[in-house]
Amino acid sequence: MSESESSDASVVDSTQEQSKQVLEFDYSDTLHALKRYFSSGSTRSYEWRKTQLKALSDMLSKHEKAFNEALYKDLNKCKHEAYVTEIAFLQSDIKHTLKHLKKWMRPQKKSTPLVAQPAKSYVKSEALGVALIIGAWNYPIQLTLSPLIAAIAAGNCAIIKPSELAENSSAILAKLLPDYLDKKAFAVIEGGKDETSALLSLPFDKFFYTGGEQVGKIVMRAASENLTPVTLELGGKSPCVIDKSTDLSITADRIVWGKWMNAGQTCIAPDYVLVLSEIRDEFIEALKSAIEKQYSADPKTSEEYGRIISQRHCQRLASYLDGQKVIYGGQIDMQTRYISPTLVLEPDSDSELMQEEIFGPILPILSMPSKQAMIEFINKRPHPLAAYLFTKDKDFEEEFVERVSAGSMCINDCSMFMLNHKLPFGGVGTSGMGRYHGKYGFDTFSHEKSVMSRSFALENQFRYAPFTTFKKFMINRFIG
Ligand code: NAD
Repeated sequence: MSESESSDASVVDSTQEQSKQVLEFDYSDTLHALKRYFSSGSTRSYEWRKTQLKALSDMLSKHEKAFNEALYKDLNKCKHEAYVTEIAFLQSDIKHTLKHLKKWMRPQKKSTPLVAQPAKSYVKSEALGVALIIGAWNYPIQLTLSPLIAAIAAGNCAIIKPSELAENSSAILAKLLPDYLDKKAFAVIEGGKDETSALLSLPFDKFFYTGGEQVGKIVMRAASENLTPVTLELGGKSPCVIDKSTDLSITADRIVWGKWMNAGQTCIAPDYVLVLSEIRDEFIEALKSAIEKQYSADPKTSEEYGRIISQRHCQRLASYLDGQKVIYGGQIDMQTRYISPTLVLEPDSDSELMQEEIFGPILPILSMPSKQAMIEFINKRPHPLAAYLFTKDKDFEEEFVERVSAGSMCINDCSMFMLNHKLPFGGVGTSGMGRYHGKYGFDTFSHEKSVMSRSFALENQFRYAPFTTFKKFMINRFIG
């Protein structure tokens, strides 16, 4: 074979390889099968939704051990943390949904203005169709199944794409979900960027994405092609403000819990602390002793302390410490993906540490001269996913709630709002759009259809031409 023939052959090979890849990642048949099933109406009934939710609950209880093992392999997540933040969280989500589902499904009656009477007005929630749920790796079971619970409650079908970074959790979901859920309504597709891109090119009826801002933009661009409605659960730098009136010891315990759970890989973990200068050193001492109380002086030996998801993320976090004043921790073991709880003092606002979302066990501490300066510091930056304030000063609390914009807020604690199914969860601005949890999740996966049902009685002629002066007078009186 000549040189040019051989290079032609390799071009053909690589083209065939590529088209094979494209074929491999063509999920349109799966989507169309789910769409057909959705159109059959099988997913509309309360009974079907209840059966799916109960099956999901069964799967979680029967395979809790397997989920725990997967979470341990992916993130070194200890059994207790796995239970509280993933399994029990989801069970409680299902329980709440089952308790309220009938009520949520009921049409909501609305009053009818005089001009349209006699008629009945109501809002009927209807499922959107087939949703694509793209999960995240940090709480890989919770963040994949919680949107699925909402999608099921609203009567949708779905393709579920767990995060490839938490590979063991992804594998267990792919193995178990088809055994428990209606296979005609749900499919799990594993994979990374290529598989997700192939999915995003299809005409889904809803995209629900949890992850970082950059991919969020890709999802939104893809959504615009088919005008697919989109919910983006993103992240950002969540501030934590410490006022001098706070109880420092309880504050420190709660911050250590919220920050170092899952080794800092929590989208709503405090990203940085702003503390009034006069109590900075006292606060730091309280924080150090709370870290040692919860994870011991050598957290590497603590069974409760997690590991970073990948070496790439470990390197990213390590690079944030370059040139910073590390006042506590800073131990890094790339091999085992370990980074100890680390405190950085007064980082430069322009440094990567203060520009990027940390999403790891490093906590920058910045002292501030006044309460006003703390609020201004936060408000000069993009809206965070969560904002925290520790204070006993009710006026400051009120001002903080009024002036600081954030997806969610917690005063005198971290992350606890997640436990209240009655509160919506979602970002604002660059931290995301849309929300879920409880009824908000049901609404996110529904279209609220307005219905007015009129009767043939009391037909009036006012709205029909010809528009006489009397008709105009009557119309102005009733509509204007
Ligand atoms: P990521 O954004 O890199 O990946 C998330 C998903 O996107 C994965 O399923 C992946 O397969 C897919 N993906 C990656 N690259 C892609 C591409 N180029 N095209 C199409 N799909 C692609 O995840 P991440 O950024 O490492 O996640 C961390 C971020 O997620 C943080 O910002 C965190 O705050 C945020 N987060 C938010 C929440 C929330 O509930 N709001 C929860 C967890 C994490």
